[in-house]
Amino acid sequence: MSDIKHPATVAIVGAGLVGCLNAIYFAQRGWNVVLYEHRKDMRLPEEKINQRGRSINLAVSERGLSALRKVDMGLEEIVLGAAVPMRARMVHLGKDTQTSQAYSVHGEHINAVDRGRLNELLLNVVGDLPNVRLGFEHHLLHANLENGTMEFSVGPEKIKVFKTADLVIGTDGAYSKTRSQMMRSMRMQYSQEYIDTAYCELSMPPAKDEQGNDTYALDPNHLHIWPRHTFMLIALPNLDHSFTCTLFMPFEMFESINTSEKLLEFFQENFPDSIPLIGTKRLVEDYFANQKGSLINIKTSPHNFKDKALILGDAAHAMVPFYGQGMNCGFQDVEVLHEILDKHNVLPSKHENGKIDDLEAALDEYSRVHVKDTHAICDLALYNHYEMQSAVTSVRYLARKKLEGILHIVMPRVVIPLYTMVSFTTMPYSQAIQRWNRQSFWLNTIVGTMAIGTVTAMSYFTVKNKVSVSVPDIIQSVAQLSGFI
Ligand code: FAD
Repeated sequence: MSDIKHPATVAIVGAGLVGCLNAIYFAQRGWNVVLYEHRKDMRLPEEKINQRGRSINLAVSERGLSALRKVDMGLEEIVLGAAVPMRARMVHLGKDTQTSQAYSVHGEHINAVDRGRLNELLLNVVGDLPNVRLGFEHHLLHANLENGTMEFSVGPEKIKVFKTADLVIGTDGAYSKTRSQMMRSMRMQYSQEYIDTAYCELSMPPAKDEQGNDTYALDPNHLHIWPRHTFMLIALPNLDHSFTCTLFMPFEMFESINTSEKLLEFFQENFPDSIPLIGTKRLVEDYFANQKGSLINIKTSPHNFKDKALILGDAAHAMVPFYGQGMNCGFQDVEVLHEILDKHNVLPSKHENGKIDDLEAALDEYSRVHVKDTHAICDLALYNHYEMQSAVTSVRYLARKKLEGILHIVMPRVVIPLYTMVSFTTMPYSQAIQRWNRQSFWLNTIVGTMAIGTVTAMSYFTVKNKVSVSVPDIIQSVAQLSGFI
């Protein structure tokens, strides 16, 4: 009996960042790709207006760039062309006290890019591919994943339509419908956790230079942070000389700051240097007009349902944004998936019975090797919440960072800072954490020994010379002598 093969179709639900990149990868493999998106085309002028107050800018780092580079369509250059390099954190301690903390001793940097702009750039590329069809205003309602049938509500009239595909991939974000449909068909482990912190976007306009031209109000090659323990303000640069600021704060603080007077008083007390840069009018307008977003951590396992469905990006692993890795991890999902499809030589064709050779083995392998890495970065992102809010100001943290940096210069292969492994390599996240745990043990031992030795020496000196000093004085001196503050 002849077995004529037919072209295979993949339906990708969600044309956000990860969905678009995945569509490009599948199109390059020769699949028929249909990309369904609940929203209207964001490139339409009226849609751009709707995005105000939701235009988070993202830090793109090596994992994201690597996935863009692999497509070999100039995507990396396109994205970097729309990005501003950030070489260090600028920690704003008091009104006039700032300290710059380089991200890498080798000059590696992360890149600030507007999420909406990045999505538009990817949609432009997707839209030019002959084997991709775009279906905007298609909202997935239900799916029978066993037979690849999806029900969508289409357009403002909400007309119900049914579509089919050989493989359904959900890139429909943290509140994924694809995921909930998969969970009806399989035993998927699922956990979600909201943190108490919410976020609100504020904008800092360009300043004017002496000639009256637009210029940056702050150093543009830094990610600016005002860490204040339980809350913080951050600012990332945009190409147009503005900054997008994000205020992270517990929900109850947002609720209690409910008048312009309270807001200005709060900023005066905590972020006084930011007020003239943002402007009081704009600050009040943005704070009260923009939504207060919640932050969620979601882990799932496995990420595939046989050879029928798969979730990628936030649909599979939403994380709090404090490591700047949500999208980077989602892009890496796409790269890892396609490496595994290559390894199994999965072709863009199906048998009469709809089977695609080796697809199930490939998707099972994807879940087996990659899920643990997505869990690892979700945990790490929560940990970095603490680090960004408060640890960046602690002497112990800075001491350790400094030592790690020095050892990394001397022994670049032996000691690698965690931030470097996460942001400037493509090493699986779980391996990065294992390696960091081993390093931490040794570094903490060295820092602890140095601190005890120095304090002992100082105490001996003060007693011997009958100098009167307090313990905080000794600690302060140790830190200054060591050059750590
Ligand atoms: P999304 O961007 O959420 O896209 C999902 C798409 O699916 C949307 O277009 C949506 O309309 C569509 N959709 C949803 N439901 C349906 C449906 N039923 N039918 C059809 N379509 C549907 N990441 C970084 O890497 N670096 C950073 O610096 C960074 N900073 C962040 C700062 C903040 C404040 C936040 C909140 C996040 C940050 N992230 C960062 C995370 C990053 O934004 C996300 O990880 C990334 O956008 C996820 O992309 P995605 O394509 O998986 O999902």
